[in-house]
Amino acid sequence: QAKAAGGNKLRFFNSDMQTSVLERASLEGDLHQALARNELALHYQLQVDHHGATVGVEALLRWYHPQRGWVSPATFIPLAEENGLIVPIGHWALKSACEQLAKWAAQPAYSSLSLSVNVSSVQFQQPDFVREVEGLLAETQAPASRLVLEVTESLLMREPTRVRNTMLRLRARGIRFALDDFGTGYSSLSYLKRLPLDELKIDQSFIRELLTDKTDAAIVDTTILLAVSLGLTVVAEGVEKKEQLDWLRGHGCYRYQGYLFGRPTPIEYLFETY
Ligand code: C2E
Ligand code: MG
Ligand code: MG
Ligand code: MG
Repeated sequence: QAKAAGGNKLRFFNSDMQTSVLERASLEGDLHQALARNELALHYQLQVDHHGATVGVEALLRWYHPQRGWVSPATFIPLAEENGLIVPIGHWALKSACEQLAKWAAQPAYSSLSLSVNVSSVQFQQPDFVREVEGLLAETQAPASRLVLEVTESLLMREPTRVRNTMLRLRARGIRFALDDFGTGYSSLSYLKRLPLDELKIDQSFIRELLTDKTDAAIVDTTILLAVSLGLTVVAEGVEKKEQLDWLRGHGCYRYQGYLFGRPTPIEYLFETY
């Protein structure tokens, strides 16, 4: 039919669409092998307070593809969420992070650092997620009180009661929760009231033009006030400039993450860059 309509040309895909479909399929195929082939890594990014002291670290997944080089999680995490691979990949990331946390716990210079790990809604909603985390803590001997799980607003929309129960069980172990990318999802402020959150991360999209965009400035200002009045730690993501830091500090945000303090790096270089 498509052929008849378009003479000799196949009309279903233009070449761009075909490439992207094929590319996606090939990336997905490779992702299936990535864990077994040892191609995944965690990189780490510093979180700094208003005195310039390092107070925490966020673990960020990286995929070193043999042909493509480093692939961003923004590319492969959504793929892994669709096909379920995020469950074993997320397990690997959490386990690696807990191993690192256990090493720090044994070193006085690093023992008060917290380590934040991103958890996909798909992984979080596995029926045995609580036991998975408990198992990893027992296995690695990582201190639960230094572990922060970063969740996104997408999680909070699904089954609020179950999500809340899961969070409460983990929190009873001492684990803390951060709401990541705040302001980018379909959030309802009532979640902030009902869920046991400890930290709110202002998305970098609001920080980028903070100094020139009045709307962004108003959103960030209001978010800081909201977080503070709810007793939540507020972290600004994507801080790249000294002027952004000064603005944030002046408006009551005392915890930051961004290239100004260091890019995500392999663990060997984490404390060198800063
Ligand atoms: P995120 O959790 O919001 O992580 C922050 C992202 O901002 C990271 O991107 C980081 O490299 C980037 N970033 C940090 N500082 C700056 C800055 O000053 N400027 C700019 N432009 N960017 C900055 P990355 O590493 O590409 O990760 C993207 C997203 O992938 C993460 O966003 C997170 O949602 C997801 N992700 C990463 N690792 C994991 C993981 O282990 N599990 C899950 N489920 N998701 C992960
Ligand atoms: Mg995060
Ligand atoms: Mg974020
Ligand atoms: Mg993000």
